[in-house]
Amino acid sequence: MRTIESIAELRAAVADWRRAHPGGTVGFVPTMGYLHEGHASLIRRSAAENGLTVVSVFVNPLQFGPNEDFDRYPRDPGRDRRVAEAAGCDLLFMPSVDEMYPRPTATRVVISGLTERLCGASRPGHFDGVGTVVAKLLHIVMPDHAYFGMKDAQQVAVIERMVEDLNFPVRIVPCETVREPDGLAMSSRNVYLNAEERRQAVILYETLQLAEEKFLEPGMTPGKLAEAMRESIRRAPLAVTDYAEVLTWPDLRLPEERPFDAMPPGSRFIAALAVRFGRTRLIDNRLLEIRTPAGKE
Ligand code: AMP
Repeated sequence: MRTIESIAELRAAVADWRRAHPGGTVGFVPTMGYLHEGHASLIRRSAAENGLTVVSVFVNPLQFGPNEDFDRYPRDPGRDRRVAEAAGCDLLFMPSVDEMYPRPTATRVVISGLTERLCGASRPGHFDGVGTVVAKLLHIVMPDHAYFGMKDAQQVAVIERMVEDLNFPVRIVPCETVREPDGLAMSSRNVYLNAEERRQAVILYETLQLAEEKFLEPGMTPGKLAEAMRESIRRAPLAVTDYAEVLTWPDLRLPEERPFDAMPPGSRFIAALAVRFGRTRLIDNRLLEIRTPAGKE
């Protein structure tokens, strides 16, 4: 594995590889580092599906709000190198902020509609920062496939939309969320939690399990389900709900308030939540789909 800090060098390395491997495909996994098993699963998938795997580690200042955790976001380049290499990364791209933003960007990618709710509402400007940096990274790496975790489902929806709207020549590959044994979604931010917060953080997973069960109850509606999720989170005394919502997937609109069992089979929804423990904000989600009744396919 080669670690590269400059855009020009990364481009040259990918171009050299493509020349030497006609028809070979390049996979790309963008991250903010402090790599864990969730990131490793994306890297392994890319390595299995492509001849060359590029991983970026870049904590993007553009996607953090003024009172968010940019400065204290956990960083450990040495560990990132070990985890990335063990998972099958070939080129590890670790640019500095100056390398990515030598001057303030006059150009921003704004993805509207999909960003009005959930994390877009709680973190104004966040998805403009994500869209802008992912657009830059995709132009730098020019991969055939780019791998994103469904833990950040709104990010997947937003990036897929950007790529379609602007005809980026890349296929976005959504990947399943990797969890701790108790169900907590792995996240670089889990290290912020103290022991008691960590114990109670399982409430996110438990709430989504409950949502999946309640989704099937006769007469259940999107609004009632979201309310049941908020009530469930209240069982953890240290948890403060940022949002708990049920929206349509993948366009992230508020569904009509009528029973799920009266909606057409194949309709898809996302139960999504963001919960604060002290200064730490955790997110998780579950996709829900109205199944075709047995024997009616
Ligand atoms: P981050 O470093 O948090 O920006 O995440 C980089 C990529 O890894 C994003 O596509 C995330 O959705 C993905 N990711 C983060 N945590 C997990 C997880 N627990 N399971 C699967 N993918 C994840």
